[in-house]
Amino acid sequence: MDKNEEKIVRDFSARSKDDQQAFIDNTWCDTCQKENLGLHTPIEYEHAGVIYIEGKCNCCDKTVVTEFTEEDF
Ligand SMILES: [Zn+2]
Repeated sequence: MDKNEEKIVRDFSARSKDDQQAFIDNTWCDTCQKENLGLHTPIEYEHAGVIYIEGKCNCCDKTVVTEFTEEDF
């Protein structure tokens, strides 16, 4: 089994409040087709070497995933 296929849950709450707020505010919802609606109940995980922030859209409550790119570090 390929280890990279596993999701590794990370501690989103370990980030600074500013970082957390930025992820919560800067979203793209595929269901609403709108950006920056915001999300709630965020979790952070790593999958295949990429970090993702996942939460629920404030508007439609569907899952919203943000890919965490290297440039944001
Ligand atoms: Zn939405």
